Amino acid sequence: MCGIVGYTGPREAYPVILKGLKRLEYRGYDSSGVALLNGELKVYKKKGKVSELEESVVGKNMHAFTGIGHTRWATHGEPSDRNAHPHLSASGQIAMIHNGIIENYASIKRELINKGYHFNSDTDTEVLLNFIEDIKKNNNGTLEEALRIALKRIVGAYCILLIEKDNPETIIAARKGSPLVIGIGKGEHFLASDASPIIEYTKEVVYVNDYEIAIVKPDELILKNLGNEKQTPFIQKLDMELAAIEKGGYDHFMLKEINEQPDTIFDCLRGRLHAEAGTITMSGVQNNIQALTTAQRMVMVACGTSWHAGLLAEYMFEELCRIPVEVEYASEFRYRNPVIKPGDVIIAISQSGETADTLVALENAKQQGAFIFGVVNAVGSSIARMSDAGAYSHAGPEIGVASTKAFTGQLAVLAMMALKIGYAKGTLDEKRYRELIKGLEEIPEKVKQVLNDTSAIEAIAEKYKDAHDFLYLGRGYNFPVALEGALKLKEISYIHAEGYPAAEMKHGPIALVDDKLPVVFVATKDRYYEKIVSNVQEIKARKGRVIAVATEGDTVIPGMADDVMYVPDADEILAPLLSVIPLQLLSYYIGISKGLDVDKPRNLAKSVTVE
Ligand code: GLU
Repeated sequence: MCGIVGYTGPREAYPVILKGLKRLEYRGYDSSGVALLNGELKVYKKKGKVSELEESVVGKNMHAFTGIGHTRWATHGEPSDRNAHPHLSASGQIAMIHNGIIENYASIKRELINKGYHFNSDTDTEVLLNFIEDIKKNNNGTLEEALRIALKRIVGAYCILLIEKDNPETIIAARKGSPLVIGIGKGEHFLASDASPIIEYTKEVVYVNDYEIAIVKPDELILKNLGNEKQTPFIQKLDMELAAIEKGGYDHFMLKEINEQPDTIFDCLRGRLHAEAGTITMSGVQNNIQALTTAQRMVMVACGTSWHAGLLAEYMFEELCRIPVEVEYASEFRYRNPVIKPGDVIIAISQSGETADTLVALENAKQQGAFIFGVVNAVGSSIARMSDAGAYSHAGPEIGVASTKAFTGQLAVLAMMALKIGYAKGTLDEKRYRELIKGLEEIPEKVKQVLNDTSAIEAIAEKYKDAHDFLYLGRGYNFPVALEGALKLKEISYIHAEGYPAAEMKHGPIALVDDKLPVVFVATKDRYYEKIVSNVQEIKARKGRVIAVATEGDTVIPGMADDVMYVPDADEILAPLLSVIPLQLLSYYIGISKGLDVDKPRNLAKSVTVE
C-alpha cells in the first residue's frame, strides 16, 4: 500500500512523478503529494485522489529536475491534507515519503517531544523523519549517516525516499519489507514501488533488497548495506509492455482484466501444458519433485482472494496428490507460533508478491526449515525472490483493486502443480491425468464463451443492485468460489455478502432468508449436484430469491432459480475457473449501476504491504 515515485535527471520531475502516481494509485488513494527540489524544497499535497492534487497545483511553478511523490493508504492518522506525504522535517530542510508502518514510532515520538519537537501530522512517518534529522543534527553528519543510524532502531516496515534542500539532484532511499524498484536511464534515475511508472522510460531496473540504502543521482546509483558497505546493483531487464498497464479502450481496469482472462490463463498454460504429449513443464516443480512428492503436509499461506485460491488448492492437492493440506491466513499463521516440521511444504500465494503478512509468515517458516514454494504474479517481487522455488501466474499487471485475472492465474498454476505432483507420485492415474490436462487446455476458450455475451448478467445486476445483503452458497470445489463471489461483491458494491458451504447454511444463515434476500448458488454439474439442487429447493421453500451459476444445458436449476448465469461444462476440479467469471461480472455491474468507482473501492488498496 502507498505508492512511491522519485525522479532525478534532465526531465521535468513533476510530470514524470504525476504520471507515475496515477499508475500507482491502485496502492492507495487517501491523499497524494509531491516534493520538488529546485534550490528550494517545496511540498504540495492534497487529500483525495491524484487528480485532486493535479487540480490544486494548476498555475503553480512546478519546475524542478529532482522530486519525490506519494499516494497514500492511511495507517496512522486520518486521510487529510496534513497527514498526506511528503512530510517536511522540523527544520524544513528534508522531505520524506514512506510506505509501511513504523511500529515503535510512539516511543520515539515521546523522546522527540521531550526534546521540544512539535508534529504537524499524526503519522508514524513524520516521527521517523524527525528522528533522522535529530540524529543528523546531533552528529553534525550527513543525511545518509543519520539514516543508517536511525534505521538500526526502527521496528516495522518501510520504503522511504528522502530529498534534502542542500543536496541537489540526490534522492536517498531505503527499504525493509516494502518494495522499491529503481529504473536506470541515460543520465537519469526513476524510483517507484513497482515498475509501472518506469517502463515507458527504461527497461533496466534494480530491485532494492531489504536493509539496503540507495544514493541516487542522475548519473550515479550507489547501493549500500546498513553497515555502509557498497553492494553491486543487480540490473534486470523488465519483461512488460506499456499497453499492459493501460485501460486499452475499456471503461475500467476491472472490466479489462476480467476480459483478459482467456489470454492470461492461456499465457499461464503456454509453454507448460502440452495436452497431446501429456506433459506439464514447470521447472520449479520439476527441480524439487522429490521434496514435493514426499511432502508430509502442505500449508497454503495467503490473504484475501489468494486465500480462496489456497482453499481450492486444498481440494485439488488432497484429491490428486493425497497430501494433507492446511490453508492459513498469513496474518494468523505468522503470529500463532505454528508447528512446522521438516517435510512441510509452504505454498505462498500472492498477486503482488509483496503482501506484508505473507512475507513475514514465510520468513518464519523458512527459519524453521520449511520448503517455500511461491505462486506469485508480480515478477521479481519479494516473495518470488525469497522462495526456494516457485511458479509465476503470468497474469500480467493487475491494476483493478479487486483481484480477478490474478485469481484465475493462481488457479491455473495450482491445478498444473497438483496434476504434475499427483502424477509423479502415482496418486493420479494416467487416464485421469490426461483427462484433466485436456480439460485445462480447453479452459481459455470456455472462459471466452462466458465473456461473449454478458447481457443476462448485466440485467441480473440491475435487478438486484438495491439488495442490502447477499448469500453465496456452493459445495466442494464451488464452495471457495462462493466465498470469492461474496468477497468481490463486498469489495466492489459495498453490499454485505457472505459465502457459505451450501449444506452449512442450515446451521445458521438460513435464518436470514426471506423474500428479499438474494441467494447466489454456484451449482454447476458435479458430484454434489443433486445435493445442491435440494439446497436450492430449501431456499425457494422459504421464498428466497435464487440466482444460480449453472452448467449450460442444465434443465433442472433453471426451472427453480429466479435468474441463471450459464457457464460451459467442465470437470469439477477445473469448473471454478469458469464459475467465478459470472460472479466477477455480477459484482462489477452492480458496482457500476450504483455509480461506484470499481477500480478504486473505498478504504481498499492493492498490494497490502502493511500488516
Ligand atoms: N504509515 C504511513 C501513513 O500512515 C504510510 C502508510 C502506508 O504505507 O500504507 O501515512
